[in-house]
Parts: sequence; C-alpha cells; structure tokens
Amino acid sequence: MAFAAGCGLSNRTSVFRQNVSSQTSISLRPAKAPRQVVSMAGHGKFFVGGNWKCNGSKVMVDTLVAELNAGTIPSDVEVVCAPPSLFLERVNNSIRHPTYAVAAQNCWTGSGGAYTGEITADMLSDMDIPWVILGHSERRQLCGETNEIVAEKAGYAISKNVRVIGCIGETLEERESGALWNILATQMEAYKSTVTDWDKMVIAYEPIWAIGTGVVATPEQAQEVHAFLRKWVSDNLGANVASKLRILYGGSVNADNCADLSGREDIDGFLVGGASLKGESFVQICNAQTAMAK
Ligand code: PEP
Repeated sequence: MAFAAGCGLSNRTSVFRQNVSSQTSISLRPAKAPRQVVSMAGHGKFFVGGNWKCNGSKVMVDTLVAELNAGTIPSDVEVVCAPPSLFLERVNNSIRHPTYAVAAQNCWTGSGGAYTGEITADMLSDMDIPWVILGHSERRQLCGETNEIVAEKAGYAISKNVRVIGCIGETLEERESGALWNILATQMEAYKSTVTDWDKMVIAYEPIWAIGTGVVATPEQAQEVHAFLRKWVSDNLGANVASKLRILYGGSVNADNCADLSGREDIDGFLVGGASLKGESFVQICNAQTAMAK
C-alpha cells in the first residue's frame, strides 16, 4: 500500500506537497540512465542491507545463512547482513564472502570500559565486522538515542575503520506538518559534525511511518526525499561527496515493490527489515536492479 493511500492524510497532503516541491525539484544527477554512484574505495555499488533486528536462534540463523549462500547476487551489488550481536561471529564465519558482509546493529559511543551490555567499534573491528547500523529509529525511540549520541557513535566507529549505515527519518506527524525537511537536515547536520570520512558512510532514509508497517513510500515520495538529501549533502559536504554517497531507502521494502523503488535515480539501495529474514525474498531484493532491467 502506498503511503498516500488510506493514511488519512488528504487534508494535509497538499501542504506537504507544496513544501516538498520547492525543495526537491533539483536532482544532482542526470535523468536515470545507468546508476550514477561514483566508485568509492572499491565500492560505489547498489547497496542492500538486511537488518535482522532482535530476531533469531541458532537454527533460524543457520537456515537463513544457508538460504543466502544459495542465492545469486549480482557482482555489482554490495550486500550487508546485520544479525543480533550474539550471532555476529557465527554469521561472519558461515556466510559467503565476499558476496555478503556482516554488520552490527549498534555500538557504543567510544572505547570500552564500564559500560555494561555494550559492544564497541574497536571490538567490531577486532572481530572483523566491517559495518555497523547506527541511528535506527527503534534505537532513537526505544532507547532514547539522540542525534548527538548517534553522531558520536558514527564518528567513533568510522575512526576505528568500521563503516556506518547511518539511519535518519521522520515520523508521520513530522511529515504531515512539513517539518520533515528540518528534521532530516538536523539529523544530517549531526552526522556532519562527527563524520570525518564519508567514503565509510551510507545514509539510510527510513521514514518511521514506513518501518514494519507494510506502508511503503511511493517511489516518488522516496525520490523526493533522496534528492533533497543529496542536495543537502552537496551544499554542506560538497558535490564530490554528494555524487559518491549512497542513500538507501528503508521501510517495508519487499520483493514486490523493490524494482520500482530501485529505478529512481537517487535511490542507491535499501535497508530491509522484515523481508531480510527470508533468504529468498532478500535475494530477490538484492536483484532489484536486474528485475528493473527486464
Ligand atoms: C528497518 O527496520 O530498518 C526496516 C526497514 O524494517 P522493515 O523493512 O520491516 O520496514
């Protein structure tokens, strides 16, 4: 179901549309042709992340890894799977490299010490875990992580050579009121204040109203925001960073809706929650660009 349909937004949608139209008409990329992400540090590929969240058991994890290992992933797609931290080593030892890489779902703001229950970027690096998801809305909303905390984590992780999938996104109320642009810019500003190497960063735009709800943003809605973000990055971090930065869409992506979304010029990949728990669906999403080309 598309966001605009059935969400009771009609009386506010026009306000939102007026707000976005002035901000998102500029795309920094030419009309969609081949994907325009410039190769960076050996990557620059369409990117698909699987956020397994707090799901799994030894049996479930082993089954999922077997399904993923049996899948065909195009060589120009970078795929990163994020199991719960307890299973990171198990997955890293059994998943097919280099087709897949592994990410943690969180880490501490700095180095280790008396921080019960936490893991650090130093530990991830030591255990050969190359990625971490930070700033997911569930951690922001359920664990009280502010923009500042998330940014501190991102800056530290990158300083330890752990790449970051940095999440941002707005609530339904923020979208309806038109506040989303300020919310997104403020979230990006926080990352800007700590991240020193944007080659080690991807941004995941995850509207909170779309996460786990089955209400996916339309390709137009996602593209509007992605174009806004790319312009923000260009204005604030430079055109070079903007042309290289991969901006993922996340929120109820599945095997049926991924091809349309992947066809939009500023959508450089996905962060997938629920559909990443089924190997076959996730592999299909990783092949979204191929499906688009058919
Ligand atoms: C997520 O949690 O990052 C997410 C996008 O979840 P879902 O795909 O289930 O909406």
